[in-house]
Amino acid sequence: MGYSIRMDRVKPSAIRSVQKRIASKQGVISFAAGLPDPDLFPMDDLKKSTMEMIEKKGKQAFQYGLSKGNRELLQVLAERMQRKEGVDAKPENIVVTTGSQQGLAMTAMLFLDEGDIVVAENPSYLGGINACRPYGCSFLGVDTDEDGIVISDLERVLAENPKVKLLYVIPNFQNPTGRAWTLERRKQFMEVINRYDVVVIEDNPYGEIRFKGEHIPCLKSMDTMGKVIYLGSCSKILCPGLRVAWICAAPEHAVMYERLKESLDLQCNEFAQLQVVEYMKNYDVEGHIRKIQAAYKEKCDLMLSLMEENFPASVKFTRPEGGMFIWVELPEGLDADGILDEAVEAGVAYIPGEFFYANDGAKNAMRLNFTTVSEEQIRKGIVLLADVLKKHA
Ligand code: PMP
Repeated sequence: MGYSIRMDRVKPSAIRSVQKRIASKQGVISFAAGLPDPDLFPMDDLKKSTMEMIEKKGKQAFQYGLSKGNRELLQVLAERMQRKEGVDAKPENIVVTTGSQQGLAMTAMLFLDEGDIVVAENPSYLGGINACRPYGCSFLGVDTDEDGIVISDLERVLAENPKVKLLYVIPNFQNPTGRAWTLERRKQFMEVINRYDVVVIEDNPYGEIRFKGEHIPCLKSMDTMGKVIYLGSCSKILCPGLRVAWICAAPEHAVMYERLKESLDLQCNEFAQLQVVEYMKNYDVEGHIRKIQAAYKEKCDLMLSLMEENFPASVKFTRPEGGMFIWVELPEGLDADGILDEAVEAGVAYIPGEFFYANDGAKNAMRLNFTTVSEEQIRKGIVLLADVLKKHA
């Protein structure tokens, strides 16, 4: 019995294996995580709203529902897309998914054929790239700078490669760099992609976790041709365990997602969808998001100031205005994976940057997470990491 050819293309996650390597040593301060801070989950309000929901809608919550998503939730999410993202969304634009990860997997399934090309930012979120791998596509990376995707590179890649079908981008507080694209870059990006027959995935799980600067409109709000498939998620604004996320797309795409969803898992968890409805309608989700923003800002600011104070001058890093990650660039020739064991031995860990590329990646980079570490761990961990870096940089 052989597995399908698709499975040959699905590789175990390099990031998970690094995390295992780190977890095997006790007491390490880990900046390698990618999780929201569980101490911020609104436990009391979630408990209350869940009980109220069961009392009001218990039978519905435990029954089958629609493949597209619970009607009330579709309404809540369409309204949220209008109010928060300036997207003229209606329930017919929305499909509820089991995390954005399912939105990524479904998009790959819906659009990709053998030999197609997917364009991703250099670096990018590996979960998005891996979602495409089963379909026999190849990848082209387009570099990013502090303002976002590099437009001249994007132009060249699209002009030279007619087989590009899908572009995968994370314009807000990207995982792994923490960068947000400027408004100008977003406009330029839309102007370029509108000239090609391509589909864009705008993956935006961190957009609402902005803790500095002004909100910048999402690509979907500038999408006049229905080319952008927007992925939103409750994972970072509420909690990931509910696995409630959504796609916002042109109605003709939404119909196809609904068809696919039916064949994959019939529907998302009705109970979790109604939990989100109850919480979002009757509890202070905006106040909760402000709490997350304030807590992450404090940790990010502390980490950046300690990095400025302690890291060698040859080490550069991003200064995120939101999200959960900082991207560190080491001097040319210094291999972040090569010194990880030494760092873990010293008591601190990170994810080497090379694992965040569709093809070969820069070895002299690392991703640091600031959401699941305490202030004390940040203070200790950054000094430990700085000591390791000083030996090499
Ligand atoms: N996209 C990006 C950029 C992410 O960082 C993550 C989670 N870390 C996801 C998608 C998946 O999120 P979820 O499935 O929990 O919505």
